[in-house]
Amino acid sequence: MTKHIFVTGGVVSSLGKGLTSAALGLILERRGLKVSVQKLDPYINVDPGTMSPFQHGEVYVTDDGAETDLDLGHYERFTNAKLTKESNYTTGKIYQSVIRKERRGDYLGRTVQVIPHITDAIKEAIHAGVSDEDVDVAITEIGGTVGDIESLPFLEAIRQFALELPAEDVLFVHITLLPFLRASGEMKTKPTQQSVGKLREIGIQPDILICRTEQPMTEDMARKISLFCNVRRKAVIEERDVENTIYEVPVELVRKNLDRIVAAHLHLPSDEPTDLSDWEAMIQRFMAADKECEIAVVGKYIELHDAYKSIYESLDHAGIANGAKVKLRKVGAESLCDQGTQLLEGIDGLLVPGGFGERGLEGKINAIQWARENGIPFFGICLGMQCAVIEVARNLMGLEEAHTLEHTPHTPDPVIHLMESQEEVSDKGGTMRLGAYACRLAEGSRARELYGRAEISERHRHRFEVNNDYRERLTRAGLTLSGTNPELDLVEIVELRDHPFFIGVQFHPEFKSSPLHPHPIFRGFVAAAVAHSASRGAASRPREESRV
Ligand code: GLN
Repeated sequence: MTKHIFVTGGVVSSLGKGLTSAALGLILERRGLKVSVQKLDPYINVDPGTMSPFQHGEVYVTDDGAETDLDLGHYERFTNAKLTKESNYTTGKIYQSVIRKERRGDYLGRTVQVIPHITDAIKEAIHAGVSDEDVDVAITEIGGTVGDIESLPFLEAIRQFALELPAEDVLFVHITLLPFLRASGEMKTKPTQQSVGKLREIGIQPDILICRTEQPMTEDMARKISLFCNVRRKAVIEERDVENTIYEVPVELVRKNLDRIVAAHLHLPSDEPTDLSDWEAMIQRFMAADKECEIAVVGKYIELHDAYKSIYESLDHAGIANGAKVKLRKVGAESLCDQGTQLLEGIDGLLVPGGFGERGLEGKINAIQWARENGIPFFGICLGMQCAVIEVARNLMGLEEAHTLEHTPHTPDPVIHLMESQEEVSDKGGTMRLGAYACRLAEGSRARELYGRAEISERHRHRFEVNNDYRERLTRAGLTLSGTNPELDLVEIVELRDHPFFIGVQFHPEFKSSPLHPHPIFRGFVAAAVAHSASRGAASRPREESRV
């Protein structure tokens, strides 16, 4: 029988519920259990695929091609949970399924209502989120904040869900904030009390309270919270902001006994200790890193860290693998159009991530030309790879007007064009080339050397691709087409040989990197950037992140 943990949040959003859920998953795995992790999002979009990154942050893609919330990235980086289309449901997706049934006549004769029809569909979604029969613990995070109107059906559904299971098979974890009032020098428990009050009104009594705080929670406060919120003292847990890396969160939670409290409540085997030794060793390596490099990420959404979350995480993982601190220089693609490549002076590597639309495109192409001509390590992802192909076509093949059809539908040289399967597509949601596809790597290529394998699988999210009509000419111009899709014969990886590091990939490697298993291309890219930094004797440069 699978046991269930529900994670809710109160007081404010952005408390790190996703991170805490992921950390909890890791902790349980390190006690020898099999977990699945799922997110329920109360907004009405069917999935976040059609939302601007400014609204929602990055769209995370699973192997089976679901466009999902970025918290699923945390789940995959921390745990081995198998994530699929069933791992992320929104209000829109739930209503879509209920309305489809209504139209089909499945409810013939009945009035379709939030209770029981929507709540039943949510309960089915929770069951569907349990990836395999032998999952010991399924963690379900409820997005949003308790008290939001749109969260109500989800909270009602988990209340009902709990009723249908033995008490020791369900655990409610509520994450709240203990704000610190500078003026009075005090931390306040009232918002936590009110948030738990809201939950109890709905009929949910949290079993564990995780209190996010900047300052230490005193024993007095913990007792007060326990008393007012009806939660045992030992289950009121402090989760203080970590100092160095988010990967410290699970270690801190174990230090606060979260593992034992969960195990006791769910009647899980309790004699096994939580073995986080490899995780702690990874944190040690992160702390001990004594090399450094500075990498410019040139994108449209650099103001919002979450817009490129998995990319930044993957760079950190690669830093750990190389014993280096990776300093980020976040450069707006549009400022590159206005101010030119001087914004890139002094960097050790250029990363151009994925994106959509035309804004800032020329800035990205100029940046890539600059990196190519100056021997600066370059890594292009999806749109970044497409820009690299345009750059090579324009400047090495002499096709001055080469472009992508996404941007210039009438270019004489559409080196990037629409995939055939996309030509008739009119809906925007869920219709791109999505999810995992195989890719064959060319013998003797850098990609093959980095992966150490001849065939790989990587995740995709795009409509456009390299135009095969230009393959021969691109190759003659010096571009190695080092990765191709064996079934569809699409170009997946391009690289330049006579360059310290110049690789573009049509897929999204950032979705498959984790701190214990850094992605091979990120690892190679950061290694090249570290070598570049060392060759310039860069040890004395400052370390903070900068934004241009
Ligand atoms: N806009 C490009 C396409 O659809 C690239 C997509 C991406 O970078 N994810 O092909």
